[in-house]
Amino acid sequence: MNKKVNKTKKQAINIGIDLGTSNLLVYVDSEGIIFNEPSVIAVEYGTNNVIAVGHNASKMIGRGHNGIKIISPLNQGVISDMDSAKLLIEIALKKVESVNIDLSTSTLLVCCPSEVTQLEKNALIELALKLGVHDVFIEEEVKAGGIGAGLDIYSSDGTMVVDIGGGSTDIGVLSLGDIVVSESVRIAGSYIDNEIINYLQYKHGLLIGNKTAEIIKKEVGSLREKIEVEKTTSANGRDIISGLPKKITITETEIRDVMTEPFESIASTILKVLQRTPPELSADIIVNGIVINGGGALIDGVDEFLKKRVTLDFHLAKNPMTAIVEGTKLLLKNRGSYFVKPTD
Ligand code: ADP
Ligand code: MG
Repeated sequence: MNKKVNKTKKQAINIGIDLGTSNLLVYVDSEGIIFNEPSVIAVEYGTNNVIAVGHNASKMIGRGHNGIKIISPLNQGVISDMDSAKLLIEIALKKVESVNIDLSTSTLLVCCPSEVTQLEKNALIELALKLGVHDVFIEEEVKAGGIGAGLDIYSSDGTMVVDIGGGSTDIGVLSLGDIVVSESVRIAGSYIDNEIINYLQYKHGLLIGNKTAEIIKKEVGSLREKIEVEKTTSANGRDIISGLPKKITITETEIRDVMTEPFESIASTILKVLQRTPPELSADIIVNGIVINGGGALIDGVDEFLKKRVTLDFHLAKNPMTAIVEGTKLLLKNRGSYFVKPTD
């Protein structure tokens, strides 16, 4: 990595990274969020030279040729390609250096999904240290997300966060600054995209790619029991029989029906976590309700759907896509008083 250019005096600063399955966000204290793009890298086959990162790499999904490999280093809430995950951290730190931050005196907090193993976390810490960061630590996303969504996770009051991301839904009960009970399921954004692909294939004889499925989900995705004014969108793909391009119209009700089963599973997992929650904290959750974080919070009616099944109040985070990286701000401030370096 190209280190210290020595132009002007660089600052020592706190850096937060949200290493999400779908999106990579980078925060620096002096600047705010300096990077917020898909966790995707495009490399050249053979040489592994990086061709594109983030939005530019994501645009190539399903459109690339044999010479280009598109990599999503995280899948279903776990690191599926460690070398590429390291590359993402390297890219993130280059962005930080590009805004004139001195890594050698900075503290870095990386938040990754709860299913990432300690061995993998240690590898990420080692890498960041090797790239010149002074102090590195890792935190659970649910915790950072709770803080970023405005919860006081350090109080003795129990709070619950449901983070519906791209690869996994992570559920955690927090009290006194730590996770008391948690659970992660691989039913989240990408799973729903695949369900939409399967539905269109069997119901409409249309083959579509992941990108198209995601767009359909964002445009007409809904969990409303009663749909007042039906939204529709078009889906373009390949006819399964003729092999030719085909365009169909798809309705909100159809997508709602596709999304119902995955969200029933998420609701049952929330119920399971509640059954394992200590009674005093359960009592708090009745009062405080449950916060929904992550991209899944943007699905129309998700709070209403979960409320009906879990019979507790659900609140949507105001900033569900950025809550984790915003939460790193406070966690970094409290570094030292609350945390022990995982490698110590
Ligand atoms: P991660 O933390 O795993 O990177 P995010 O919290 O960034 O995930 O959420 C990404 C997921 O949210 C993706 O599956 C994306 O399709 C989905 N998403 C983003 N915006 C919307 C929306 N408006 N409606 C439905 N799903 C959305
Ligand atoms: Mg996330």
